[in-house]
Amino acid sequence: MKTALVCGAGGFIGSHLVRRLKADGYWVRGVDVKLPSFSETAADDFAVGDLCNFRNAERVMSLPNREVFDEVYQLASDMGGADYIYSGENDSSIIHNSAQINLNVGSIAVGKKISKLFYASSAIAKQPDSEYCREKLFSERFYSVLHKNHGLDVRIARYHNIFGLESMWDGGREKVTAALCRKIINATEGSTIDVWGTGKQTRSFLYIDDCIEGSLKLMQSNCVEPVDIAGETITINQLAEMIIEISGKNLKIKNIDGPVGSDSKSINELSKDLHWQPSTTLVNGLYKTYKWIEEQNAKQ
Ligand code: NAD
Repeated sequence: MKTALVCGAGGFIGSHLVRRLKADGYWVRGVDVKLPSFSETAADDFAVGDLCNFRNAERVMSLPNREVFDEVYQLASDMGGADYIYSGENDSSIIHNSAQINLNVGSIAVGKKISKLFYASSAIAKQPDSEYCREKLFSERFYSVLHKNHGLDVRIARYHNIFGLESMWDGGREKVTAALCRKIINATEGSTIDVWGTGKQTRSFLYIDDCIEGSLKLMQSNCVEPVDIAGETITINQLAEMIIEISGKNLKIKNIDGPVGSDSKSINELSKDLHWQPSTTLVNGLYKTYKWIEEQNAKQ
């Protein structure tokens, strides 16, 4: 039986990844500072621990009898939506925590001769406009030189706005899709919803099931260069209009000052080499996500 370690297994993408690896027959250990927020973990073993701490990281990356994980998926990161990333208030913890996690995980993977390591980077690593992006670029480079100097077999995914069920949808760390769904759910008929920036800024959006499928396709490929894992590209106002349409409400959009980040840039040609296309349309993914957030919101 293949073994996998998922770092960040208490988070949105990590908890879905654990479920999929289990369904594919892996023995899975998850590690995170917290358990998943919306459902039980599917992992065989879940370690609650801080990967910034080298000893903790070394312990969770070890198996009995000096056996070595077949695959390590590194998704743990100090992250959030635009408000968290661009306010500037969290910059030192974002850089320190995420870089420390990656320095620990990468070095231990080399020391233990881990066969294959997947790193979750971000689309914005190629247009750094925040400390979150700069840390992603730094860690991409770190894993790349571990490949070059030590032969660590790495796969680097640049995710573009992943959304879906069981993502954070309130509390300040939610990302744009979930934040817009929540605002629209709570808007009264005929009112106006605020959207940051001109609304003309573009982003690519990908539904969670497709993100997991694309990530596993990348892991099975031979691409050691960063690869975009992305879906449909639209403007933020178009995204808001699609969600308003799903809600069935009569709402207007008001564009206000706020953090906007960089536009989505052209997708890396390498993603074509994966012979993979997302199977969930943006509108279907948004519909499922909207309904799930509506249920969560009603419970509060
Ligand atoms: P998430 O915040 O839900 O998951 C990250 C997890 O890392 C959290 O559960 C958090 O508790 C954990 N973590 C943070 N510090 C830790 C530490 N010191 N030790 C152990 N665990 C720690 O985020 P996500 O949306 O699931 O994203 C997963 C990865 O993908 C992240 O690296 C993120 O930067 C990257 N990414 C995500 C998106 C997206 O749209 N969701 C886009 C680009 C890149």
